[in-house]
Amino acid sequence: MDHAQIINQLLCLGLRPEPGQALPQDQGDDLVLLVQGRAVCPPLGDSPWSLEAGRLCRDGKPVEVPVEVLPAPAFSAESDPSGAPLGRIARRYGADCLLAMVGPTCLFWPSPNRCTFCPMGPARDAGQDLEEKTPEQVARAAARAKELDGVAHVLLMAGVVPPAGGEIKHLIDCAKAIKENTGLPVQASLLPPAFTKDLKRLAQAGVDCLELSLMSFDPAVLGRIAPAKSGLGLDRYVEAWAESVRHLGAGQVSCTILAGLGEDRVQTLEGCHLLAEMGVIPLLTPARSCEQFELEAAPDPEYLAGLYAEVAALMRAYGLSLGTAKAGAARSGAYTALGAWELEPPGLVVRPMRNTEELDAALVLRHQVFVREQGIVLGTDQDGQDRMALHLGAWLGGELAGVLRLLPEEQGQGLLRLGRLAVLPEQRGQGVASELLAQAKEQAHRRGADKLTASVQTANVPLFARLGWTEQGKPFAVHGWEHQEMTLELGYS
Ligand code: SF4
Repeated sequence: MDHAQIINQLLCLGLRPEPGQALPQDQGDDLVLLVQGRAVCPPLGDSPWSLEAGRLCRDGKPVEVPVEVLPAPAFSAESDPSGAPLGRIARRYGADCLLAMVGPTCLFWPSPNRCTFCPMGPARDAGQDLEEKTPEQVARAAARAKELDGVAHVLLMAGVVPPAGGEIKHLIDCAKAIKENTGLPVQASLLPPAFTKDLKRLAQAGVDCLELSLMSFDPAVLGRIAPAKSGLGLDRYVEAWAESVRHLGAGQVSCTILAGLGEDRVQTLEGCHLLAEMGVIPLLTPARSCEQFELEAAPDPEYLAGLYAEVAALMRAYGLSLGTAKAGAARSGAYTALGAWELEPPGLVVRPMRNTEELDAALVLRHQVFVREQGIVLGTDQDGQDRMALHLGAWLGGELAGVLRLLPEEQGQGLLRLGRLAVLPEQRGQGVASELLAQAKEQAHRRGADKLTASVQTANVPLFARLGWTEQGKPFAVHGWEHQEMTLELGYS
């Protein structure tokens, strides 16, 4: 069994600790294993997996994989000058991350709308986490955890605090104090705020990453496990994800999606696709039992493995990686096996433009090709339809190398017009145009189109033909350049 499968099974099926081993759960901490160097926090309890004499065993038989059990963090045994234990101010989250839950207990926790998998409410109720903690206390815990336990990044979590957006102030104050005292990168985890400008405020305060977790794309499951999140509606999340990526960059925003709750697989993968396309890491995570919720059965590792493979492929296609997240849940990766499924990043990434800054870059590239290089049009090639179109970009080694756009034509007839295909001269001959065309077909499919149509420069006709496009009618001139009308039947109806 390879290490990815071992980690997957541990996270789904859990781990039976060694007899007599002190359980970190009792202090609100999780047991952290390093499996082949990768941090894993399995749920503890009855399981075919066990630790025996420091060796990982399945059904009592040792499994050949390097495993290490991390000792309890040293910082948590210390206190601050007021006598507050640092272990009640923050806790270790995975191998090298510190989790601090800041601000008052969430508005939703005492209500029927509470989230089933909330880590804050139960910890507060059990007296394992201080409700009143100052930014200075959080910063002190971070500094000691960095010094004593090698903590390298921080996850700050806040519940909903009235008046609207009250939690933003706590997150900002704590992030600033941590950065000033330790320089550690910080992720903030919160519900999408009522005002998206608060996301910009967090970014401006130095927050490196954001976690805006929906938990499930299956409405029935979401309504069951997180009624408050369900009540916000998907649009609010989409708006917050887009705004967060705009301020922090692709791959610095994540969204935990739980698997193993009887959710619809197709909806789950479609949702992960939406996230990846937006530049948000779909942090697929197996559900586990908690005080509020006993799973009927452990998540099926085979089911999770299939999801991991598909989500890892999506992340690769959209140029995302857990390894490039600066802080928090995605960087820690201790509660998901997704990192073990990750694939080598591709040199060429083709995807829809995510924001106006990327669209502006596309327009600059087009100007360079159509106006300055080819002189097909004078002045500008923009025609007033650019703000309504879906624009695709191709990035080679992180640099924008080519673009195209898709516009609806014959409204309601399932026809999309592909146009403005442009590749920078120095990037030609590397498959950029054909990848753009392949992605255009994929995007048209996802949007339910039946057919693509385009006016193709004669020089590009062989390329289009190789990809299944057929010529329609005779060539014609556009501003003196010969073009050929071509179509691609998508065959979906
Ligand atoms: S919104 Fe966050 S803090 Fe509030 S109940 Fe849900 S998980 Fe807990």
